[in-house]
Amino acid sequence: MKPAEVAQLLDEPACSHNKKSKSGCARPKPGASAGGCAFDGAQIALLPIADVAHIVHGPIACAGSSWDNRGTRSSGPTLYRIGMTTDLTEQDVIMGRSEKRLFHAIRQAVESYAPPAVFVYNTCVPALIGDDIEAICKASSERLGVPVVPVDSAGFYGTKNLGNRIAGEAMVKYVAGTGERPPLNPEALADAQARGIQRIHDVNLIGEYNIAGEFWHVAPLFDELGLRIICTLSGDGRYEDIAAMHHAEVNMMVCSKAMLNVARKLEDRFGTPWFEGSFYGITDTSQALRQFARIIDDPDLTARTEALIEREEAKIRAQLQPWRERLGGKRVLLYTGGVKSWSVVSALQDLGMSVVATGTNKSTEEDKERIRELMGPDARMVNDGSPRALLNTVKELQADILIAGGRNLYTALKARLPFLDINQEREFGYAGYTGMLELVKQLALTLESPVWAQARSAAPWAAPKPAAAPAPLDPEDLPMPLDDSAEFSFGNSAVA
Ligand code: SF4
Repeated sequence: MKPAEVAQLLDEPACSHNKKSKSGCARPKPGASAGGCAFDGAQIALLPIADVAHIVHGPIACAGSSWDNRGTRSSGPTLYRIGMTTDLTEQDVIMGRSEKRLFHAIRQAVESYAPPAVFVYNTCVPALIGDDIEAICKASSERLGVPVVPVDSAGFYGTKNLGNRIAGEAMVKYVAGTGERPPLNPEALADAQARGIQRIHDVNLIGEYNIAGEFWHVAPLFDELGLRIICTLSGDGRYEDIAAMHHAEVNMMVCSKAMLNVARKLEDRFGTPWFEGSFYGITDTSQALRQFARIIDDPDLTARTEALIEREEAKIRAQLQPWRERLGGKRVLLYTGGVKSWSVVSALQDLGMSVVATGTNKSTEEDKERIRELMGPDARMVNDGSPRALLNTVKELQADILIAGGRNLYTALKARLPFLDINQEREFGYAGYTGMLELVKQLALTLESPVWAQARSAAPWAAPKPAAAPAPLDPEDLPMPLDDSAEFSFGNSAVA
């Protein structure tokens, strides 16, 4: 990738930064990729496409350090979980045979697994020695008859966020627009007609990764409304879905920053309108469904959407009531990034909890504006995510729990503070109305765990010793011999 192309991706016009005097995303500082390099960002963005062979072109460490690092779920194929790499060694670099190795790797993947497509991720070493992965992918595709997509994402290009954009760019450039509109499932169509649905509308979700299977909480709502999801880029995704994503009537950006370029370019190329939303919390889930109805502008859909929202909100509020009594008033320090910095605030407020501060390290100006709307003008925003800073904030604001990403787990546990993982490594899905029940359950389990009382009490060896009990008397010491018929008690043992 040429420096100008990287600069173009950083200077995303749909980004809120670009409306200000300072244009584009912040330039990465040395060490910025320590939180995830561009390759890592590109791979995690596309890895959930479950039927594709994902080949990492580079030394084993690139694939080894990042394979399967998100808990995304697939409802069918599992090819995405096989870590494939060209495993370049010094010898390959010295002998100039890394391009050949890449071709053989693509051929092996195609012959062994017959995938509908192969994605090739570039990493630092082949980018530095000048491998032309685009040319190899093109030649392999012609030779093997399978689409081979280059994702030029060498780690040194920049941060994980840039990698997300590179991934999105590759999808728009090589995949979107190449497929036919998928035919409607006859059973689903018959069912929709039986329920009086006049027309099925096609939509896409961009930036939805189906972590811990959470999108399956929301998908039934779409089915009920007669909204067919052509493609979720990329949770539980299939190659053919992405190829056909340009047929959708609306795109929803589920994560604010990650793939903004995809939504904008699909609008430019195919005229598909888009909006940004979230499925965390009751309010935001309803809002997202309303946005679909508003943009599609079908009165029948609007009426059904309102009826569904009314029914689902009433149901979930009734189910949450007993939990609100247990969790209401608990103080939360939320440290997460991007869209979650405000969407999770809204979800926690729906539960009656009080968010004392929220992390804004990766949030845009727009995200911060939404935080102020939800938490008031004096909302405390935390930028410094170092363990010391987080613990100081917990102490100062008397938070009862830290909700953050997995890397903060040990910070919280060492401080004997309840902790809930909200980022991609989490094991539970919190999206949609029913996701709120899971969230509330996990919060209660964490906050009410008996381990905190034990961990906070003094260790047995540090506790003050109780006064020593008097030593039991020895019958031999008694002044009179025992009468056989009498019973005496010494300490805890009865002697007859
Ligand atoms: S792509 Fe570069 S920065 Fe990323 S893991 Fe590989 S060597 Fe490291």
